[in-house]
Amino acid sequence: MPQKTQLDNRSQHTSADGGPGPPAPIFGLTETRSELEWPAIAGMPTKPILAIYPGSFDPVTNGHLDLIERGAKLFDRLIVAVLRNLDKDPLFTLTERLEMLREVARPWENVEVDVFDGLLVDYARKRNAQVLLRGIRAISDYESELQMALMNRKLEPRIETVFLMPAESYSYLSSRLVREIARLGGPIHGLVPPAVERRFRAKVR
Ligand code: ADP
Repeated sequence: MPQKTQLDNRSQHTSADGGPGPPAPIFGLTETRSELEWPAIAGMPTKPILAIYPGSFDPVTNGHLDLIERGAKLFDRLIVAVLRNLDKDPLFTLTERLEMLREVARPWENVEVDVFDGLLVDYARKRNAQVLLRGIRAISDYESELQMALMNRKLEPRIETVFLMPAESYSYLSSRLVREIARLGGPIHGLVPPAVERRFRAKVR
């Protein structure tokens, strides 16, 4: 008799009235799937998931790093994609932002750092990514992130946006605030990786 695995729980399915039979529909699915289809679903998708984490990263902070770490664990591959053309003048040049990101992302073998411009969904399609990763710190992020995610979904319905929350201690941290503190001569230790702290010291004199 074939060994029963943890994932193969077909015999545990019950019909809506509690008797043996096909599993009850879940999450509003109106069709029940045949017994034969269930193991593939229970076994989870085997397709490797490539996610893109886009942003300006001017500069990368410990909040971004927290998200990179979570993303690297969750997805098979993660591309940190730096936006080339910012509306406003960045403090750090594109080359500097890339160098800092590459240095801090080195510990993760499945993380790549790249540049993009133009529409994010075009870049995601070009890279064959299935997921866009974004961070939500507070309710204030939610509105603009939701708008962006829904617009991206309209442009490319096959790509999902996934939101992750950083550790609480990074929920108030933004590149803009770090730049402001550094400009006014305040301490940025613990807010950015040491490599970024060094760059700040050289730049903000
Ligand atoms: P953008 O200009 O696209 O918002 P950022 O570099 O500021 O680029 O941020 C990139 C992404 O990282 C955004 O989804 C942002 O919400 C997220 N993020 C920024 N700072 C933090 C943080 N401290 N914790 C979690 N996510 C963050």
